[in-house]
Amino acid sequence: MKSIWIGSNKEMALPKLNKNIKCDILIVGGGIAGLSCAYHLKDSGKNIVLIDKSICGLGATSYNTGKLTWMQDLIYHKIEKNYDTKTALLYLDSQREAIDIVNNIVKENNISCDLSKTKAYVFTDNENNFKNFDNEIMFYKENNIKYKVTDKLPIEYSSKLVLETDNSFVFNPYKYLSSIRKILMDKMEIYENTRCVSIDMGSNSYNVKTIDDHIIESKVVIVASHYPMFIVPYFIPFKTEVHKFFLVGSKVDKSKNIQILSNDKSSVSMRYYNDKGNNYFIYGRNSHSSSKHLDVRDDYLEITEEYKKNFNLEAEYFFHTHDLMTYDSIPLIGEIKPNLYIATGFNKWGNTNGTISGKVISDLILKNDSKYAELFNPKRGLSLDKIKNITLFNFNVGTRYIRNKINSNMSYYDDKVIIKNINGKRCGIYIDEKNNKHIVSNTCPHMKCNLVFNYIDKTWDCPCHASRFDIDGNLIYGPSVYDIKIKD
Ligand SMILES: Cc1cc2nc3c(=O)[nH]c(=O)nc-3n(C[C@H](O)[C@H](O)[C@H](O)COP(=O)(O)OP(=O)(O)OC[C@H]3O[C@@H](n4cnc5c(N)ncnc54)[C@H](O)[C@@H]3O)c2cc1C
Repeated sequence: MKSIWIGSNKEMALPKLNKNIKCDILIVGGGIAGLSCAYHLKDSGKNIVLIDKSICGLGATSYNTGKLTWMQDLIYHKIEKNYDTKTALLYLDSQREAIDIVNNIVKENNISCDLSKTKAYVFTDNENNFKNFDNEIMFYKENNIKYKVTDKLPIEYSSKLVLETDNSFVFNPYKYLSSIRKILMDKMEIYENTRCVSIDMGSNSYNVKTIDDHIIESKVVIVASHYPMFIVPYFIPFKTEVHKFFLVGSKVDKSKNIQILSNDKSSVSMRYYNDKGNNYFIYGRNSHSSSKHLDVRDDYLEITEEYKKNFNLEAEYFFHTHDLMTYDSIPLIGEIKPNLYIATGFNKWGNTNGTISGKVISDLILKNDSKYAELFNPKRGLSLDKIKNITLFNFNVGTRYIRNKINSNMSYYDDKVIIKNINGKRCGIYIDEKNNKHIVSNTCPHMKCNLVFNYIDKTWDCPCHASRFDIDGNLIYGPSVYDIKIKD
C-alpha cells in the first residue's frame, strides 16, 4: 500500500515519552483532528501535550483523497430529512468555515501543500437516483446555493445527471499535516511512538496511561485518535459503522481543477493532483462496510480493472483507509464526560470535519461555547429513526462477529494462511515467501472479533471495527491499543 501523498517524504519521529508528566490539556492523536485542535489551542497559554502512537500525519488522513469540500454527495437533503433545514444549513456553514480555516492557515504560514480551488461535481449514471438529486437541488434552490445541472462530466465518464458547484478545494493532506506539526513543535511538547492505552478519571484530572506504563496527568483530554480507544462512555462502537474505501493513482499528462463524486452504489471519486509540474489522476471506488467483502484482493482487482478500462491507466499507487460513519450523517465532536472531548465519526469527510473539530473543541475549552456545539454534540438524543440505523449497524457487525466465530477459515484463504488453536488460543499463521511462519493471536484485543487476513497489504484486519496489525502482530490502526503478538 503506497499513499500518493506520503511518497518518500516521511518525517523523522520525535522522541517518545519516557517519564510521567503533568499538563493542562492532552491531545491524543496527531491526524487532522488532533493537529487542528492543537493549532487552535497553541497560543492559549495552557500547557499542552500531544501524543501520537506513530508519527503525526501518518494516520487515515494521509490515505484519503485530499478533497476539501462542502459538497459532500447529496448530504443536505438527508440532514434536512433527519432533522430540519436549520440543522442542514448549520452543517453547511461548518464545512465552509473549515475550508476557510485551512485556506487561512495555509496563507498565514506560507504552507506548501498543493492547495487549489476546484469545481465540485456529484453525478449519477442511474435514473433511479434522480429523485435524490431533485431533493438536493430543491434544498440548494430554497437556500440560495449556486449550482448548475448538466448531463455531462468534465471528463470522459458515463453519467446521466450531474450537479456542479464552485468553491471547493483539493490539497495534499500529508504536506498540510507535516507543516502544522512543524509549527506546533515550537509551541508544545509532542511525543511520538507514544501509544495511549487507557484514560482514567482521577480526583481532579485524568490519568492517561501509555503502553510503556507512563502516566500523563491532565485536566483536559482530547481524544482525536480517529477511533476512540474506549468502549464506554457513549458506546461509540455501537453507534457508528466503519466503512472502507479504495484509491488508485498514476501520472497523467495534464490535470484539471475538478473533483468528482458519484451518488451511485460504486461510489466513484475522482480528482487530479499537480505536484511541482507532475500531474496525477486519482480514482476511488468500492465504499463498503468493513464487515462486508473481506477479501481486499477483490477490491484491488475491481478498482485496477476499472481504472484501466475507463482511463487506460495502470495503477502506480494503490491505497486505502476507513472512516467511521454515524447514524445521522453528522460527526461526533465535543465533550462526552467532564473535560473529556472526542472528535470522530466524520462520514468520510474528515478534512473539513477534522478541521472544524479544532475550532469547536478549542472554543468549548477556552470560551465554554461554540456555534456548532449542539450540532456536533456527541451526546445528542436519539429518535426512533436514528435507533433504526444504529440497529442496522449492529446487525451488520454482529452478523459478521458470529459468522467469523463459527467459521475459523475464510473461504478465500489458501495454504499460506492457517487458523489454528495452539495451547487453547486461537492463532493466525501466515507463511511468507521464504517459508517463515508468522504466528499471532487471531483475536482483536478491542472487542474480541476474529481477525481476517488481508493478502494485499499482508496484515490482519478486524472486520468489526477496523483495527489492523502487521504479520508479526504490531498494531497499525486502532481502536485496539494492544498488539496481537504471541509471547511464548
Ligand atoms: C479512502 C478514503 C478517502 C477519503 N477522502 C476524503 C476526502 O477526500 N476528504 C475528506 O474530507 N475526507 C476524506 N476521508 C475521510 C478522512 O480521511 C478521515 O475522516 C480523517 O482522515 C480522519 O482524521 P483523524 O484525524 O480523525 O484520524 P487520523 O488521520 O487517522 O489521525 C489519528 C491519529 O491518532 C493516532 N492514534 C491512534 N490511536 C492512538 C493511540 N492509542 N494513542 C496515541 N495516538 C493514537 C494515529 O497514529 C493518528 O496519527 C476519506 C476516507 C477514506 C476511507
